[in-house]
Formats: sequence, structure tokens, C-alpha cells
Amino acid sequence: MLEQNEIRRYDPPPDLLQGRVIAITGAGDGIGRALALGCAAHGAEVVLIGRNLRRLESVYAETGERACIAPLDLERALAPDYDQLAAAIAQRYGRLDGLVHNAAQLGVLGPIEQADMLGWCRVLHVNLTAAFALTQVLLPLLRESVDASMIFTTSSVGRRGRAYWGAYAVSKFGIEGLSQVLADELSGTSRVRVNAVNPGPARTRMRRQAFPGEDAAQLPDPASLLNPYLWLLGPASAGISGQSLDCQPPRPRSPAAPPATPG
Ligand code: NDP
Repeated sequence: MLEQNEIRRYDPPPDLLQGRVIAITGAGDGIGRALALGCAAHGAEVVLIGRNLRRLESVYAETGERACIAPLDLERALAPDYDQLAAAIAQRYGRLDGLVHNAAQLGVLGPIEQADMLGWCRVLHVNLTAAFALTQVLLPLLRESVDASMIFTTSSVGRRGRAYWGAYAVSKFGIEGLSQVLADELSGTSRVRVNAVNPGPARTRMRRQAFPGEDAAQLPDPASLLNPYLWLLGPASAGISGQSLDCQPPRPRSPAAPPATPG
């Protein structure tokens, strides 16, 4: 496997994802949007999964219609909604070559002692349980691909616990665990590879919510962080599974977000 620095410097060929069908959750905004555009620009057909139709339609137009829209609210979706999504992808493409679990919510940051039960459950559900449910219904379609790649989106607070990051941090620990367990289960029995990616600080709505006082102009644009995702989704990473990659080199930890960050 390439060193992480080499993966960050990876220069994806223009036709890297030609003929591949890649589904991305939370594709309407932030990193998901940038990745959807990046995948389409490298030849993929992108399944844009999300809850905000207006945002998804705008991304759809920007891909030059190399996409389809799959509305799904990960907070409210029930088993039939997941089944319907899988059936629609099966009918349209017959297989899936990539699945990126990107959608997440920050929730309200604050001390565990004061965490609200409903907010805790919502964040764990959207960030972790929904990714499990989507994985389960889409695995049969991923197995139909000759080189399928699944990516879970993690965070530095999902690797080392940190004050006030509450349910969000715990959900990302869960994502790291889900990614490892699944990678181990599928190794040797399937061509589906499973890895996690930590984008690191990026100029998005979620980052603004976590650090409202930060100068966003100093943060990388999500479009500049795509190389590890593209490398994992393309053929150059065939056989790589069970890894957790970083889009940015480790940097000094930002100050912990205050306990009562609004939102
Ligand atoms: P954004 O808030 O910009 O985007 C999050 C996306 O998730 C949006 O498209 C949002 O949709 C979608 N989403 C949220 N809730 C739901 C739901 N119930 N159903 C469907 N979609 C939903 O965040 P980022 O782009 O920053 O984050 C992307 C990923 O990167 C996340 O997993 C995050 O944890 C991770 N990450 C981000 C970092 C950063 O600095 N930005 C750092 C480390 C990790 P909608 O538009 O409808 O709200």
C-alpha cells in the first residue's frame, strides 16, 4: 500500500472511475457535494443520496447529469425506504461499485453529563445506525461489482475521545468499529473492500457549526481533499481493506469547542 502522503498526492487519471456507479450519502452539500462532483468528473455515474431535494438537484445539474437523485432522510427512513432505494439502484444499474457513507450531524456539543437523550439518539442514529442499515441493503449490489469499494467517513474525535464532542465523537468511534468489523468479515469471502477516511478540518457548514469563531478562509476547500477518496474508489487501491486514512497530515489539535455551541 502507498504511504498516506503519496495517497494525498495521488494524481487521479481523468477516466479513473469510468463505468463505475458510486453512491454518496449527504451528497447535497460540503464534502459529499465536492466528492459527487469529483467522482462525476472522473467518469462515474453518481447516486446522490440525501434529504434536501433542492440541494441534490443543484449537484445533479453540476455533474452534467452524470447522476441520479435518491431522496432519503437518514433520520426518518424505515426499512421499506431502504429497500426501495436498493431496488431503484438495482433496476437502474444492476450493481454498485462504490458506497461512501458521508452524511452526518454534529448535534449539540457539550458535556456528557448534560447531554439530551433525544439529541444523543438522533446523532447516533443518523451517523451510525443509518450507515449500518444502508450497508446491509446495498451489500448485495456491491457484491455484483468486480471491484467494489465502501468508505466510511470518520473524524479525529472518533479515534481519540475529546471533551464536549459527545454523541458525535461516540458515533465516529462506532463508524471506525463498523468499518473494521465489516472489512474483516468481507476479507477473503468477497471482493468488497471497506475503509474509513478522515477528511480533517474542511470549510463546510458542519465545521462552521462546531467552530463559529474560526476564520473559515484558513480551512481547505472540500474539493482539495478528495485524493484519498478517489484513490480508494478506483482500481489502484484494489485489495486494500480495513484501513483508516487521513486526507490531511496530523496537525496540532484545535481548541475544544465550547460546551454550549449553538446548533
Ligand atoms: P455538512 O454539514 O456540510 O454536510 C453534511 C451532509 O450530511 C449534508 O449534505 C446533510 O444534508 C447530510 N445529512 C445530515 N443529516 C442527514 C439526514 N438525516 N439524512 C440525509 N442526509 C443528512 O458536513 P461536512 O461536509 O463537513 O461533513 C461530511 C462528513 O465529513 C461527515 O461525516 C463529517 O462528520 C465528516 N467530517 C467533517 C469534517 C469537517 O471539518 N468538515 C472533519 C472531520 C470529519 P442537508 O443538506 O439536508 O443538511
